[in-house]
Amino acid sequence: MKINHVGWNVEMSYCNLPATFYAITEPNLVSSPQQVILNDQLATSLGLNTEQLKKNESAAIFAGNEKLAGIEPIAQAYAGHQFGNFTMLGDGRAMLLGEHITLQGDRVDIQLKGSGRTPFSRGGDGRAALGPMLREYVISEAMHGLGIPTTRSLAVAVTGEPVYRESVLTGAVLTRVASSHLRVGTFQYAAARQVTEDLRELANYAIERHYPQAKKEDHPYLSLLEHVITQQASLIAKWQLVGFIHGVMNTDNMTISGETIDYGPCAFMDNYDPVTVFSSIDVQGRYSYRNQPGIAEWNLTRFAETLLPLLHEDQEEAVKLAENKLSKFAQLYMTNWMSGMRAKLGLFNEEKQDEVLVKDLLDVMKEHRADYTNTFRSLTVGETEQMFHTAEFTEWKERWTARLQRQSNDQGKVQQLMKQHNPSVIPRNHRVEEALTAAEEGDMNVLMKLLHVLEKPYAYTTEQEEYVTPPSDGTSYQTYCGT
Ligand code: AMP
Ligand code: MG
Repeated sequence: MKINHVGWNVEMSYCNLPATFYAITEPNLVSSPQQVILNDQLATSLGLNTEQLKKNESAAIFAGNEKLAGIEPIAQAYAGHQFGNFTMLGDGRAMLLGEHITLQGDRVDIQLKGSGRTPFSRGGDGRAALGPMLREYVISEAMHGLGIPTTRSLAVAVTGEPVYRESVLTGAVLTRVASSHLRVGTFQYAAARQVTEDLRELANYAIERHYPQAKKEDHPYLSLLEHVITQQASLIAKWQLVGFIHGVMNTDNMTISGETIDYGPCAFMDNYDPVTVFSSIDVQGRYSYRNQPGIAEWNLTRFAETLLPLLHEDQEEAVKLAENKLSKFAQLYMTNWMSGMRAKLGLFNEEKQDEVLVKDLLDVMKEHRADYTNTFRSLTVGETEQMFHTAEFTEWKERWTARLQRQSNDQGKVQQLMKQHNPSVIPRNHRVEEALTAAEEGDMNVLMKLLHVLEKPYAYTTEQEEYVTPPSDGTSYQTYCGT
């Protein structure tokens, strides 16, 4: 463990895994590292000294020129199903600088994204551009504000070097903080190599790091599977409840910890339409809004397959054990989602007809292309949306009002519950774009203000009001992968 004046307290437990799981990498030196943004609050919560971090010597770390506390950075090996096709991958443009141990004793990965080529880069340049790295920063921090488990963003630094895409862009590196970067794809990598002892070491490592309670169970590996299924069912329900579309739910982009990871072509839905997809490369709509729970289940099935050799020596028995756990996903997801939807509608207790009430509202919203966030926001604060004038909505509202009256909680409590579950603001695509454009031109103020209003999305402050307006046409927005 190496502690320095900034407060870095770094280890590299990942290197206790068999060497096949990583490759030691050297920093790829860049010409003029400069910090663009530092997450003061996150740094403080990690026990880091923000004044020291703001000094330019930290830019050398955040741009990938210097190792963290002298520890050798590594790139992690993994595989993954990308749009359904299995591929061997690995960190092609990321490096793990180390695992920082916070004052509370939590272990978090400090990873650079965009820090240059690694042994897993294939044909890629290992680099990233400023816009996409700031975009990940904004959206991941917005997700955290929304109370959704996610990797965090500690800093973005520019490298002083160009990045060549369709045009010449400013090179940048994101410093990402995660409870780990273990992915479903990490297990797929281990399974594809067919060395059961390596797989067992990986599973033991994942249990130790994320679900130590599984060690006490009769069957720790089955318990690991169950925990991951439970965490993902909860995570995906949270995404659906705020209208978040990940955009590229490949198995390498699904964590074992249950944190959202890899903000590429993701975006928040404006008008409610279950088939919404933003990613330019997702022509089939595989990762559309409505498909996300089913894709999560598909990915978890791939995860379960990797664990089979650890579940039972008899393959048929192993499959039975795995299927039994997987069969719980749909109900778990639904329970999480319904409980969230009840809260969004101010319902404290459960009635059998609630599912129909929710479904009917969503149907009316879909028919009238109502804005997802603002519909719930307006129901919360008693404002009016265009859709509220229609006969279908009026009929629905009567049923909702009657339902609210059948529970004993007063109006104040109902509104409080609704405010806690219906965000007043989300990172709307046009506002994010506006902030990124200004940042690319050297003005960070627009982005800082956006980050500020996204910090407490359930606060319903007056300064959030100007961020409520949806774009004139939400469907035309497109996001791009791998930029
Ligand atoms: P993603 O779609 O961002 O999850 O990335 C899929 C894979 O492509 C990962 O293995 C990345 O490390 C790799 N990758 C993405 N962009 C680059 C790049 N510019 N250079 C090298 N590898 C990359
Ligand atoms: Mg990825």
